[in-house]
Amino acid sequence: MPTPPDVHETLKRKLAEFAAARDWGQFHTPRNLAVCLSVEASELLELFMWTRDGDGPFPPGTGPPPEARVREEVGDVFLCLLNFARVSGIDLHEAATEKLEALGQKYPVSLSRGSAVKAPGLFTSTATATATATATTTAKATATATTTNDGDR
Ligand SMILES: [Mg+2]
Repeated sequence: MPTPPDVHETLKRKLAEFAAARDWGQFHTPRNLAVCLSVEASELLELFMWTRDGDGPFPPGTGPPPEARVREEVGDVFLCLLNFARVSGIDLHEAATEKLEALGQKYPVSLSRGSAVKAPGLFTSTATATATATATTTAKATATATTTNDGDR
């Protein structure tokens, strides 16, 4: 059974053949493929628009997105990402592995378990975060007051 990187290589080869047969390689620039990736990710997101959050009831006239449509858009997103990586010479498996290692350092289990706080450790405590926010607000208020006073002269 092939390992995931081998599966990606097979798909990348098929993508290259698909594009070459249609002479679409001329359009597959990193910029265009980044746009394609964003659009396809938005199409996936659109399937969940105006549905429910959590376990609450679906709004009238809505329901869960059809699984086939979700699968289709996930496939689009993956193909765009794979094509972007292929054209840009990025080893997707390697890039993802590096990123996961970096995330592990940024979000250590001891600070992140069960928390949705972005980048724990930036603030050592809630009190520090509050003090920083207060200092920033005070500085902005002082700057505004100074500007207003200068304008009165
Ligand atoms: Mg799509």
